[in-house]
Amino acid sequence: MIATLTADCTLAQKAAILRFIEGYGLRVHVGEAGSTTVVSVIGDYEPGMAESIGALVGVASVSTEAPLYPFVAREARNAPTTVRVGDVVVGGSEVVVIAGPCSVESEAQIERIASGVAKNGAVLLRGGAFKPRTSPYSFQGLGEEGLELLAAAREATGLGVVSECVAPEDVPLLNRYVDMLQVGSRNMQNFRLLSAVGEQPKPVLLKRGLMSTIEELLLAAEYIVGSGNPRVILCERGIRSFDTATRGILDIGAVPVLKERTHLPVIIDPSHAAGRRSLVPSLAAAGIAAGADGLIIEVHDRPEEALSDGPQSLTLEGFAETMQTVSAIANALDRPMATLQAAPSR
Ligand code: PEP
Ligand code: MN
Repeated sequence: MIATLTADCTLAQKAAILRFIEGYGLRVHVGEAGSTTVVSVIGDYEPGMAESIGALVGVASVSTEAPLYPFVAREARNAPTTVRVGDVVVGGSEVVVIAGPCSVESEAQIERIASGVAKNGAVLLRGGAFKPRTSPYSFQGLGEEGLELLAAAREATGLGVVSECVAPEDVPLLNRYVDMLQVGSRNMQNFRLLSAVGEQPKPVLLKRGLMSTIEELLLAAEYIVGSGNPRVILCERGIRSFDTATRGILDIGAVPVLKERTHLPVIIDPSHAAGRRSLVPSLAAAGIAAGADGLIIEVHDRPEEALSDGPQSLTLEGFAETMQTVSAIANALDRPMATLQAAPSR
């Protein structure tokens, strides 16, 4: 049985609730994330116990059918969660666009792309420093140097930065440099990594695994939130299927499904789903039309020279055009596009 406490439950009320349950010889496990407190009741209980607990002051709801993911379930919160990344709020009314190269390649490359995407409406900068590559012979990323270059690009443009963490032992390093840690598709079920990013306070962008169901994505998010970090943003990025015409199948239906099942923000990655730049504008538009809170788009000023994912990277001109289409759709849905509040520091 799971009891969810009210957001305004006082410490004294909570203590009384726990005493009441333990008084019947039952054990409790208390989980807290943000304003949500979930009490799991463990042991054999009499029929009627759920009603008794439900009647206690400070209990919002009781479920005898334990929900699969009590922290991230839509019912856990009165309103959708907003996640602050640097100066940007994701999951509110504004549509947020994260853009940048697949990989950080050099100081000049990341600076050119960062200033180019900032001019055209991106509010956060992406760039991989640790790249999970299918082939061990492909470019693996610049490592810590890539993170330093991202931090310098943040100084130059005011854009908060997002980069992928591939191993639990790298979490403190990423935490020092970035505004949001990304857990990539290949690591969506790396449970030690999920717990590790859940034990630090920076927001986490959790990408859906290539072969993962929506329920598995939500359970992966539950690991992070249950470890103490409620700042999770979910990302649909295309799943694997029989058709190879696109790199992934962008599961647009995942957006409204996730909006029904969880209070967490949801964004779309049209680039990895498409695999080809010509398809990216349509998939980006579809994501926003379906109700996503934002996009993460790969952009490169010289995609033919990119060390990873060049074919799916928009040029800066392509990004500018895509932003116009996306803004028009956001506008039609009465959602403003997020803009940078902080002025560039130089
Ligand atoms: C990426 O964002 O560059 C990336 C590797 O994405 P994914 O984990 O979705 O493949
Ligand atoms: Mn990529």
